[in-house]
Amino acid sequence: MHPIDGVRRIALIGAMQEELSAVLALMPEAQVESVAGRQFWLGQLNGHAVVAVLSGIGKVAAAITATVLIEKYQVQGILFTGVAGGLASHAKRGDVVVATELLQHDMNASPLFPKYEVPLLGRARFQTDDTMTRCLVESAAQALPKAKLHTGLIVSGDQFVSSASESRRLQSEILDALAVEMEGAALAQVCHAYGIPLAVVRTLSDRADDSAHHDFVQFVKEVASQYSAAIVSEFLRQWPHAE
Ligand code: SAH
Repeated sequence: MHPIDGVRRIALIGAMQEELSAVLALMPEAQVESVAGRQFWLGQLNGHAVVAVLSGIGKVAAAITATVLIEKYQVQGILFTGVAGGLASHAKRGDVVVATELLQHDMNASPLFPKYEVPLLGRARFQTDDTMTRCLVESAAQALPKAKLHTGLIVSGDQFVSSASESRRLQSEILDALAVEMEGAALAQVCHAYGIPLAVVRTLSDRADDSAHHDFVQFVKEVASQYSAAIVSEFLRQWPHAE
């Protein structure tokens, strides 16, 4: 079926191939379309019409992807799944973080606007959708009973945070930040602009410190991708099916 067919799909986004590969493996029948240099896989997963896509890395790549999903595919909601670096001292590698809110840590138009505030929007923090987020927390807990689960603030910026000093700076300036990544807050700003529900889940691949890059790729492939598939699959089992 063509996307402009009245089907309200749920969008599944990952930034990197390694993050989404296990999810894509669950939808072998999916048909692929190319838009704006991205491949959109249209298919079914646990009884839901879904569209899965790799956004690429960074805030602009994420914003382009979300805009296409909303404008062209008219998605009912967006679920991002991937990895992040732990910032809070209790946020350890292998833990899972579900975002309740997101902030761009590299936004700074001071002194014209308070640091982190998105100019002219009057806010720094963007909330995720309550209903999707509650379902995501339930699903993560159910799918991965042994993983430690956190909920709260995730911060995003166009920077792979890989030094203890930068990580400490972020922690001291944004006290409640649990984790850092490169896409979530951009998705949140686009979803806010359109009024589209968003939920974000991240497995911690590193501690955003001097050893953040060590076996990053291997962790994403071997652990995080499986976590994503388990959580997404459970989420779609729990999410209400259309009549
Ligand atoms: N593929 C590259 C690195 C990817 S950048 C490599 O081979 O090393 C990191 C990706 O994972 C981004 O999409 C970001 O959202 C997330 N991420 C994981 N840990 C991060 C950290 N410490 N700082 C910023 N982003 C992080």
